Amino acid sequence: MKKIYTRDECKKIISSVKQENKTIGFVPTMGALHKGHLSLIDNSKNQTDVTVSSIFINPTQFNDKSDYEKYPRTLESDLKLLDEISCDYVFIPDYQDIYKNDRNTTYDLGNLDKNMEGAYRPGHFQGVAMVVDRLFDIVRPTKAFFGEKDFQQLQIIRHMVQSLGHQVDIVPCPIIREDDGLAMSSRNQRLSGKERKNAPLIYQTMREAANRIEKYSVQEVKQHVIRTINQNPLLHVEYFEVIDENTLEEVKRWEGGKDLRFCIAVITGNIRLIDNIKISS
Ligand code: AMP
Repeated sequence: MKKIYTRDECKKIISSVKQENKTIGFVPTMGALHKGHLSLIDNSKNQTDVTVSSIFINPTQFNDKSDYEKYPRTLESDLKLLDEISCDYVFIPDYQDIYKNDRNTTYDLGNLDKNMEGAYRPGHFQGVAMVVDRLFDIVRPTKAFFGEKDFQQLQIIRHMVQSLGHQVDIVPCPIIREDDGLAMSSRNQRLSGKERKNAPLIYQTMREAANRIEKYSVQEVKQHVIRTINQNPLLHVEYFEVIDENTLEEVKRWEGGKDLRFCIAVITGNIRLIDNIKISS
């Protein structure tokens, strides 16, 4: 695996790959890699000729300074993992490579950033759009792979790509979970033993609730999920929404023919965990 440290070097390499008429798969990450990230790389390797991953902890998407400062930084082991699964290139830019001195762009996110993560993390999705737009300009991928773990982010990136005219296919990839159901996340490393032990209740409760939609109203299901998780003294639900996958709008009653999803954010200690599951109405 070749390591690329600057924007100019990356652009040069991409130009030569394009000259050979090869397709480029791109997997942007913030490092602290786990099997969820590696599954995106696998998808890219299966679907494109050359896979480029990036590792960049993007300051503009952190609305909470201490979350940014405490974000796990594990570059050496990340590079080892990427090498082991034969990723072709890893791009490790620094701040100037991405932003130069311009971090003032504002993106049309089609109002998809108004609820859930967007409401609880003001500015987060503008920061995500800012970094992904810049990375797409440098890497010019044929396909880019994003996890459904960050479902709202995935839909916002799809919108941004359309509105800016980036020529890239956005490929959604399923959530990879621990054996007990907890969605893999770089932030899981920061959970205490007790928090880690209790965190699988989030997924378990959503799964159980997905089986209740025949018998109960949307409101009843929501109340049940929030109450069940909040009964655990270590967990606190920040939001739990039933949404239309395409518009991300809250759904008030079960309606056939819509693609619906449960989305949740839970605080445990000072860590925020997010998760979601697709449901069939
Ligand atoms: P991050 O490093 O957290 O910015 O994530 C980089 C990419 O990995 C994003 O597209 C995430 O949605 C994806 N990702 C993170 N965790 C998982 C997971 N458990 N399963 C699948 N994809 C994931």
